[in-house]
Order: sequence, then C-alpha cells, then structure tokens
Amino acid sequence: MAIEVNNHARISKLDSIVANQIAAGEVIERPANVIKELVENSLDAKANNIRIEVKNYGIDLIHIKDDGVGIHKNDLPLAMSEHATSKISKINDLNSLSSFGFRGEALSSIASVSNFKLISKNINSDKAYEISNELQIYAASHNQGTSLIIENLFYNTPARKRFLTSEKTENQHILDIVNRIILSNFSVGFTFINNSKQIYRFNKADIQDIKDQRIKKILGSQFLIGNTDINYSNSDKQYVFLNNRIVKDKLLSSAIKSIYQDKIPKGRYPSFVIFIDIDPKLVDVNVHPSKYEVRFQNSYYIYSIIRQKLITVLDECDQKDNIISSSIIENNL
Ligand code: ADP
Ligand code: MG
Repeated sequence: MAIEVNNHARISKLDSIVANQIAAGEVIERPANVIKELVENSLDAKANNIRIEVKNYGIDLIHIKDDGVGIHKNDLPLAMSEHATSKISKINDLNSLSSFGFRGEALSSIASVSNFKLISKNINSDKAYEISNELQIYAASHNQGTSLIIENLFYNTPARKRFLTSEKTENQHILDIVNRIILSNFSVGFTFINNSKQIYRFNKADIQDIKDQRIKKILGSQFLIGNTDINYSNSDKQYVFLNNRIVKDKLLSSAIKSIYQDKIPKGRYPSFVIFIDIDPKLVDVNVHPSKYEVRFQNSYYIYSIIRQKLITVLDECDQKDNIISSSIIENNL
C-alpha cells in the first residue's frame, strides 16, 4: 500500500526507535550481518574464544558468547543506544583505526528489530549483569565476557523479513561470514553451532600446522595456494582480508584477477586466501555501513604492489611444483 505524502505536514524529529529501525535497514540487511557485527564486537573486546550459535537461519536465535573484557554495569544502557561507542571519540581517530566497530550503531539497530538480551561481566567486576529491550538492569550469571542473545529477528519489520531469500541462501550467507571471520582471526578459538549441530570447533591457531588445519577444514583438503589446477565455477572460495577486515573491493579483485587470468580457464575461478597488512593511514574504511568496501589513498600504488607480490608468490609455487606447506600469502606492504 502506498503511503500518501502529506505536503502540509509539520516537521518533527523521528523518535529513536524509528530512527534505529531505519538505521538497521542499512547495517543489518540479513541475519548474517548481525553475526558479523556481534562477532566483530567480541573481537574488539579482545576475546580469546567466541561461540556462535544460530537457530532457523538466525531468525529464531543468534547467540554470540565471548570471554572478552566485558562491559561496565553503568555502560550497559549506553552500549544499546545509538551513536554510543567506546572505540573513537573524535573524527581523527578514524585515521588510525584498529577496531572493527566505530559507528556505535550495531547494538541499537539490532535491538530495535529483535528481542534482545545482553549479559556481561566486566573484567574489573566480580558480578555479571543483564539488560534487554526495556533497558532495565538485573543481576545475572556469566563468566568474564559478554553474551548477546537475539531472538525473533525482524519480528517487527515484516517488510525486511520478506526480503530474506530461502533458508538455504541465508544459511549460506551465515556460513560465508563465519568462514571469513574464522579465517582472519587465527589467534581466537571459535565454536559454531547451527540448529543444535556443531559445525566447527577450533582452538586458537598459534602454530602453522593448526592454522593449516583450520584453512583445510574450511576450504577443503585439496586447497593449496598457487595450485591453479583446482578451480571452481564461482568465486566463493576467494578470501581477501585487509588489516584483518573482510573486504570485497573492486580494485583488489581486478589486481588479483589480472594475475590469474592466464593460468585458469575462462569462466573458472581460483581459490585463495590473501592477507594484506597496510598502514591504516593509507586506507579509509569509513565508506559504507557494512564496511566491505574501502578507499585507498593511492590506489594505483596498491594495485601494482598487490600484482607484484602475487606474481612472485605464484612463481614460487610453480617452482616448488605446487608443494607449499603454508596456504597463506602474507603481504606486508
Ligand atoms: P561500535 O562497535 O561501533 O562501537 P556497537 O553498537 O557495536 O558499536 O557497540 C557499542 C559498544 O558496546 C561498543 O563500543 C563496546 O564498548 C560495547 N560492546 C558491544 N559488544 C561488546 C562485547 N562483546 N564485549 C565488550 N563490549 C562490547
Ligand atoms: Mg560494533
């Protein structure tokens, strides 16, 4: 039903619930985005272990539990309010950002479209507290760290719920985001449970063997970097991380594509995991709410460096007859 615009209406400020629901449309298009935002918060809180549980493709339940620094009791209502963050305080902080979050809008957005409960025990407190949509604080029981329990996602925004595709596709988005997070945070242990079934359980991967096991479990045991004989009909098994951030960037993709194009049959896609570490000052991550895109200060320079590094690595792989124990290219720019 179309809403008729009343040209004579007076102007009023949107109340914060409506404003948050609108913001939620940008930040959390689908359940997978909720998982990304919450797990990134756990990583920002220096968690060593993160447990991710979903039920019914995230609509019935998304439960993220971490053992990070936790949230101070008095900050609980703030954590849930819009534009509230512990990560930046002035615009210049964005120039040297090392955290994933900084907009302070994820929790308020998610809370505005779900039944939301946050339980946390701060590192400096011996008591745990919980807060939910009503913003009342109660004593609770929890080890050091934080749990976010999201139920009935999008129950009050049926239009958004209708935009979700099939259960299979949503589960694929969830698995993709979980894979990307697990592949880019080897120093953290992860458990992933979907519909009561344990999909992954990884201890922190501090030595190369364990890193390789993690990669092989996620990408398949035949995954070898540089082995261009193994290629796929789509680009699902391509992972690029910039300062450990998941990125899907046209410039990076075209640099990588241009290297592989002679080595792989037309219409086929290689698999790779590429980590790029770059001075945060040379890149702007504040381009898009879901933060997959980035903007480089000198994109031509980045383009040519990536190409050069990749050519070297792939040549090395060729010379070693594709036998290379590490499946990771680490590029230090
Ligand atoms: P942002 O991550 O952009 O700061 P969020 O809305 O995601 O905004 O979170 C708001 C604040 O709540 C964070 O800045 C952080 O201080 C706190 N917070 C959220 N999740 C966690 C967590 N798992 N552990 C500790 N603190 C958290
Ligand atoms: Mg956040």
